[in-house]
Amino acid sequence: MAATYTFKGLLTEKGWLNNATVSVDDLGNIISITKNDTPQGKFVNGYALPGFQNAHSHAFQYAMAGLAELHTTTGAQDDFWSWRNAMYSLALTLSPEQMEAVAAMLYSEMARHGYTAVAEFHYLHHDKDGTPYNNLPEMGERLMAAAQKAGIRITLVPMFYQQGGFGQAPVEKQKRFISHTIEDYYKLLDSTIASAKNFDNANVGIGIHSLRAVKPEDVIALCNALDGSRPFHIHVSEQLKEIEDCLTFHGKRPVQWLLDNCPVNENYHLVHATHLDTAEVKSLAESGASVVLCPSTEGNLGDGLFSFEAYKNHGGHWSIGTDSHVGLNPLEELRILDYGQRLISHKRTTFVTEESGDSGFNALKMAWQSGRRAMGAPYATFFTVGQPFDAVVMKADSPLIATASEKNLCNTFVYGADVSNILGTIVSGRWINHNGSLQNREAIVADFIRVMGELGTRA
Ligand code: ZN
Repeated sequence: MAATYTFKGLLTEKGWLNNATVSVDDLGNIISITKNDTPQGKFVNGYALPGFQNAHSHAFQYAMAGLAELHTTTGAQDDFWSWRNAMYSLALTLSPEQMEAVAAMLYSEMARHGYTAVAEFHYLHHDKDGTPYNNLPEMGERLMAAAQKAGIRITLVPMFYQQGGFGQAPVEKQKRFISHTIEDYYKLLDSTIASAKNFDNANVGIGIHSLRAVKPEDVIALCNALDGSRPFHIHVSEQLKEIEDCLTFHGKRPVQWLLDNCPVNENYHLVHATHLDTAEVKSLAESGASVVLCPSTEGNLGDGLFSFEAYKNHGGHWSIGTDSHVGLNPLEELRILDYGQRLISHKRTTFVTEESGDSGFNALKMAWQSGRRAMGAPYATFFTVGQPFDAVVMKADSPLIATASEKNLCNTFVYGADVSNILGTIVSGRWINHNGSLQNREAIVADFIRVMGELGTRA
């Protein structure tokens, strides 16, 4: 249904457009953006920003958010790898129907927090005994159905996951993830691409779980076959053990190996990239690729801090993701990223660039630009005529926001706001979250509670 809204303010790359009227067509694409002193259509007492882009998600892990913090009192080691064991146990139990319920709850919460798009890094492909479903992309379809219920845009990225570690067979607990050959992976990918046509706002990317999970010759073959029409995602250099294993197997660090063996370009999205040496930081930034930083999860798992300052100084691109979903607030992701850097640099200029010293604006812009690319659908500008109208709208009457001057608005959002300051979320010109009312929320919550009861994991 075509619609017209007038916002108190709309954020553009050149600053705020006051009393901005946005008209959209029946498909939710922007027809026009004008400045009107007399409001046209519905007046929205809010500030519209481009919708947040969640560039990294494993939806099923939402079922265990907050459950990995009961540690032994003896000081026994609890690290990424022990967490991964708990995560594998959950992955072994989920049915397609349960996957859909968990993902719908998660995506509804993303909508509540202002995300308009998610890149779902999907590797839970097969039935519980490891055999492919008769309908090959069954689990992927459940994820796209979940996104459709919540109203959020999804880029489903089916992952190629072939082996248990560098040169090692998969372990029993990984059986639901495995494509034994590159041909098996392409079958899964092609069937997912065909399925995606049946869902609203669904798109498909291509990915390799990690260098440790796929044979090197297949990594190279897949990367060389990419034609740039879909984003390519990969986990890389999250853990020191992964670096050591890669050095032992390849004689090179993971990012260096990738740069030396694959045509890394602006289509590549390297998730985490936590542990890079100075040469890798420079070469990666210069390749035009993006890193996907997941600050709340990386902090929760004790991964480490990304070399943000040096990467930024080389012109590196980056986006944010919520990964295990231990945090779901995009503003908090930006703050954790910034504060980690401030704590080690003793400076407060993490997001400052040569063009602008407005930290909040720069953070929103950089994360959005690479986030759109991670979805495989970059727009030229925040709001572009002919493109879908996706926005998060901040409440203009929240006390801190109402009293902030224009130049302080973005920083008030990024450094002083939370979900209570969000008036709503718009995808394709339609509210999917408005004044606390979310699309299909009651059914989504009821399904989630029932499924959590069935699983018993949160008991
Ligand atoms: Zn991940």
